[in-house]
Amino acid sequence: SLSDRLGGVFDRLRGRGALTEADVRGAMREVRVALLEADVALPVAREFVDKVTEQAVGQNVLRSVTPGQQVVKIVNDALVEMLGSDNVGLDIDVTPPAVIMLVGLQGSGKTTTTAKLAKLLKGRERKKVMMASLDVNRPAAQEQLAVLGTQTEVATLPIVAGQQPVDIARRALQAAKLQGFDVLMLDTAGRLHVDQALMDEMKAVADIATPNEILLVVDALTGQDAVNVAKNFSEQVPLTGVILTRMDGDARGGAALSMRAVTGKPIKFAGMGEKLDAIEPFHPGRVAGRILGMGDVVSLVEKAAQSIEAEDAERMAAKLAKGQFDMNDLRAQLAQMRRMGGLGALAGMIPGMKKAQAAMASGAVDEKILLRMDAMIGSMTPKERAKPELINAKRKIRVAKGSGTTVQDVNKLLKMHLEMSTAMKRIKKMGGLKGMMAMLG
Ligand code: GDP
Ligand code: MG
Repeated sequence: SLSDRLGGVFDRLRGRGALTEADVRGAMREVRVALLEADVALPVAREFVDKVTEQAVGQNVLRSVTPGQQVVKIVNDALVEMLGSDNVGLDIDVTPPAVIMLVGLQGSGKTTTTAKLAKLLKGRERKKVMMASLDVNRPAAQEQLAVLGTQTEVATLPIVAGQQPVDIARRALQAAKLQGFDVLMLDTAGRLHVDQALMDEMKAVADIATPNEILLVVDALTGQDAVNVAKNFSEQVPLTGVILTRMDGDARGGAALSMRAVTGKPIKFAGMGEKLDAIEPFHPGRVAGRILGMGDVVSLVEKAAQSIEAEDAERMAAKLAKGQFDMNDLRAQLAQMRRMGGLGALAGMIPGMKKAQAAMASGAVDEKILLRMDAMIGSMTPKERAKPELINAKRKIRVAKGSGTTVQDVNKLLKMHLEMSTAMKRIKKMGGLKGMMAMLG
């Protein structure tokens, strides 16, 4: 796996300080091979590797993971971010009918996906959906959609022989308006390869129908060719998103990265089979794992994340050993508590925090309170954060106003900070956190 190969590259590095450019470049050669093996298009792989190299150089090597594992974590995080860390749904909250148009090469799965999405919107979102096929090129294409309509119990526009796509689109729009449909889905004709006559037809339909979504449907097995497809389509029509089909096959996921890079649009769904409910929201994390070719990437990444927490805590402990604990430190602690559900690395060690931790565990303090504290600290000036004793009555009013809280809330926060920094000073007297932990056994 990639992590084994990176292990080899990094064997020499164990125990050294920061990731150097030479080390990272060596590792990135392996990453590049992994990306290409996963079918990421060459220019996209190259750009990605350059970007991640820049991020990785100079990062400190965590003591508890190998440099190879750490690079995998950096690469994984960058992949997830680039694939889109949050899932983006369909933009259909508009004055009805919302129009969704599907475009793509022939055989990419447009017609099947049209029916899958219609079924999803009808079932889960209780939308009244109509489908219309504008495919007058392939014989029986319109009948194919009608059959899918019967299977999914979704209305389809009646077929009128001899009509051209633009006229069908116009008729569909009118029918959807008159009959009160929420969503109109337009399934378009495919292309074997990008062909200007069909592109022009697609543009004309888009002009008439002014779709809320124009989704490019791409076969995930397209591999290296995905870039050309994406480029051509996104130059011709204003795409709003991408759907990758055949993710149930042996696709290695690389097309996802290529599509995202070339179109700049989110991947909204993944087709997972021929059945009409085989469609899922796109999961960047899973696809990143597939691209890196490792089943164990998740646990690896978790392990690295834990060590980062641990080293953060150590860095904090070093500050504390000097008896320093300002609002910035408190804010970092609050953020950690939020991430870890109250179990911040330091939380259990510090008397003031222990109370807060217990309160959180018992449900007496919820995330909202932590967020409110964060807002208050956010409303302080940098000077106030470094020296909270500056915060007088007038400043308290300003902070409360700025964070949508009350002066009472601000007082509570200041009291908590004071208790904690007093505890810190006590800890310092006992020989720092190390000394305290040694005492505890
Ligand atoms: P179109 O030409 O773009 O309209 O493509 P179709 O919707 O007619 O699909 C072509 C073929 O791909 C059909 O046999 C579909 O059943 C199949 N297909 C579509 N989506 C998927 C998918 O997500 N997974 C698998 N395994 N097959 C799919
Ligand atoms: Mg079709």
